[in-house]
Amino acid sequence: DVVVVGSANADLVVQVERHPAPGETVLGSQPAVHPGGKGANQAVAAARLGARVALLGRVGADGHGRLLRESLERDGVDLGHLRDTAAASGIAMIAVGPRGDNSIIVAPGANARLTEGDVLDAAPLLRSAPVVSLQLEIPLPAVLAAARLARRAVLNLSPAVAVPDELLALCDPLVVNEHEAALLLGAPGEPERQARELLARGPRSVVITLGADGAVVAEDGVVQAVPSPRVAAVDTTGAGDAFTGALAWRLAAGEPLTEAAAFAARVGAAAVRRPGAQDSYPTLAEVEEL
Ligand code: ADP
Repeated sequence: DVVVVGSANADLVVQVERHPAPGETVLGSQPAVHPGGKGANQAVAAARLGARVALLGRVGADGHGRLLRESLERDGVDLGHLRDTAAASGIAMIAVGPRGDNSIIVAPGANARLTEGDVLDAAPLLRSAPVVSLQLEIPLPAVLAAARLARRAVLNLSPAVAVPDELLALCDPLVVNEHEAALLLGAPGEPERQARELLARGPRSVVITLGADGAVVAEDGVVQAVPSPRVAAVDTTGAGDAFTGALAWRLAAGEPLTEAAAFAARVGAAAVRRPGAQDSYPTLAEVEEL
């Protein structure tokens, strides 16, 4: 149903009382390693809901790479196009402060080795999938090549960086959160208006996710608000990735964008009720209970 082209990272998480200054060592607690990376997160989110998903990307031939493969396999993600690379697997070093204030260092490692050639090698797969789901934790040439081959490209423009107009024009939809929308447009603003302004930049459709407030969807000049169910939020890590993975799946099933976004908002809401990223992602039954 969905091919995800994107990143896989090992998230190395520690709790700290305060963040270290340069040159300083602080003691942390509860060290943990979790599978993460926006691409792997999207793939797991969709697969856990029941989608058939392949992940095209690169991991290192190391312990983190094995961990990432194992977790993706547990959710049934097809890894036929996940290449082992002579580089360390990507890692995110995450220090979580007492008020949930994170400081994060992402080292892309193997993800940075994903090439346009890797994507072109998988051209038949990408052309056959109804939806290709993308984010920007891999090199831009690979993202652009995938969007060109896709029948329909969903792009979560995260982390927010300047992208060529050609890529924007291929997005259907462009998915951003409020923060990314403000960065792209140069100023914060009212979501409906921002959705219109982003649509004017060339994508075929736009979705802005708004945390607890759900999302707005813009398509064919029409902007619609999509609510999110009220939930007790515990940890919003990876909520946007869950949203995008779920959205890609529903679009692949032929659902109109607004309905697909409404479903994705329920998946995002379900995902913030539990700690972690992939660990928090719901099954279809759990979404239907909401
Ligand atoms: P990101 O994780 O990229 O910052 P958001 O915070 O906008 O993205 O979250 C993505 C989606 O997850 C939202 O559209 C919403 O459906 C859901 N979500 C996030 N936070 C909450 C929350 N506190 N309550 C309910 N749903 C939430």
